[in-house]
Amino acid sequence: MLDRKYSRVLYIDLTNKRFYKEDRHDLFEKYIGGAGVAIQLLKENCPQGIDAFDPQNPIIFAVGPLNGLFPLASKTVAMFKSPHTGNLGESHAGGRSAVAIRMAGYGAIVIKGKSERPCYIAIHDGKVFFRDATTLWGNKSSISAGHFIRENEPSTGFRTIIRIGHAGERLIPFACVATETYRHFGRLGLGAVFGSKNLKAVVVSGKRSLPVFDTNQYNKVYDEIFKSATESALMKKYHEIGTPVNVASLNISNGLPTRNLKQSSFEKADKISGEAIAEGFLGKRLACAHCPVACIHIAAIREPYSDEPYFYKTTMIGYDYELIYALGSMLGGSDVPGMLMLIDKIEYAGLDCMTTGVVFAWMTEAFERGIITEKETMGVIPKWGDYKSYQEALRLLLEQPNDFYLALSKGVRHVASIYGGKDFALSFGGNEMPGYHTGPSAHVGYLIGARHSHLDNAGYSVDKKLLSSSEITAQEIASLIVSEEKWRQILSSLVICFFAREIYKPEVVLRALQTTGFNLSQEELTSISKEILKEKYAFKIREGFSFDNLEIPERIFQTPSSAGFINKDFFMQTLNSAKEIIQKDIMS
Ligand code: SF4
Repeated sequence: MLDRKYSRVLYIDLTNKRFYKEDRHDLFEKYIGGAGVAIQLLKENCPQGIDAFDPQNPIIFAVGPLNGLFPLASKTVAMFKSPHTGNLGESHAGGRSAVAIRMAGYGAIVIKGKSERPCYIAIHDGKVFFRDATTLWGNKSSISAGHFIRENEPSTGFRTIIRIGHAGERLIPFACVATETYRHFGRLGLGAVFGSKNLKAVVVSGKRSLPVFDTNQYNKVYDEIFKSATESALMKKYHEIGTPVNVASLNISNGLPTRNLKQSSFEKADKISGEAIAEGFLGKRLACAHCPVACIHIAAIREPYSDEPYFYKTTMIGYDYELIYALGSMLGGSDVPGMLMLIDKIEYAGLDCMTTGVVFAWMTEAFERGIITEKETMGVIPKWGDYKSYQEALRLLLEQPNDFYLALSKGVRHVASIYGGKDFALSFGGNEMPGYHTGPSAHVGYLIGARHSHLDNAGYSVDKKLLSSSEITAQEIASLIVSEEKWRQILSSLVICFFAREIYKPEVVLRALQTTGFNLSQEELTSISKEILKEKYAFKIREGFSFDNLEIPERIFQTPSSAGFINKDFFMQTLNSAKEIIQKDIMS
């Protein structure tokens, strides 16, 4: 027996400014919550073959049964048709979003239609309000919208403010959505889907308490998870240095993509390492709601005012490994303030930092090779490590004053299909490369993962196994990748922060679930995970994705990885095995 309010779905129609609620225990009982329920709602609400900017493309937010109750169960899943890849859009964010949605009394929210004028949605407990956002629209900053809403919305209970910036309004297909300033639904273009609906923000607040069904068991499992989270050495590192702790180790092992992956180690990595940034710039740490780890690192940059001695403007800028990779090593940059200010400008505009970094890396190499000239770049001379040139390119990317910037604003796969340079366009299934050049498993993982993300199946950690065992076969690697992706469907349905994946092992998950009214066996968990993954691939294929049309950038074979040069034959065997496993074991 589940908490009745957890299985409630709130449906919002922006066109007619109407809303209604439905009890969907049929979905929550079968698919747990989060990604499991979201993919079903996507299937039900997204007509086949529509454009991602069609008003009928739904935005779905879904939370899980452990959110608000257990440590590190802190994320919300967003699902939609992606304008960037043209198929499955799935992105997870923390902050306060998951707990606020649960405390408002919902397990999921489905937003459809298109508002005639810019608006934002305010959801306070059981009520929904459609607010005019005309004055916020066109404001260049995603941060100001958050400030305005914070000041003007009633604050009852626990609150989240989810909003877009100028990039989302401009329908740039890799625009992101920010929540609580420093957390993001970063990848695959949710921000542009918001923009296409004239939707500036969603604010959710609630103050109901969340029931548990067995208090003794709950306290026991909670303490166990809390202890593991606070005493684990890895979590301690995440707290002290954050994910940028990976910069130094990936650099030493030739896994740090540098200068558009012309190199896999960066001679100035010590300047942008997590340790160096923490020593020179760390201003504070933050945590998502219900997380004792607090891995979010915020740098403080102090700039003097030119006309006032001893007066300074301090800007607080969030940073993590992926941002340092995409806007640091990938752009050959070691000037930390320059890199942080570029991060700030990209976040301000509301773009996905990872994709933006890879786009600028492609642009720099294309310019070096003469594929594009100052005519296309409108006088910008992109140069490795020159953050002034990237700031100028960012301004033009947002405004798209010519065909080149219009093409660039659609990502590297698109721009390379027009100007050339496909072999060094680091796109995987249409999504730009994450920061791990650790070996074949990472790249196979990006290609076949349902979201084309390193978070789908953590191929990079399979590469570590490859390093320690020369005996491992392509089939074994493929099987490890697919089975990790399958298990992650459960974590994504709960919805757990992946940093806690070593804590939330299947038997811990089963015991935690019992306290929320789910009595599942290990076999049932396995079968649900397979079903969810199957539905995701079915949606992708329905929308035109094909395993047979995957484009592989040649560059990944030209630059040594942590596992040495990637052997193309071995890579193709692994990729084909992974495809076969998905088609035979998951899709059947
Ligand atoms: S570990 Fe970091 S990202 Fe994960 S829930 Fe905690 S603060 Fe958020």
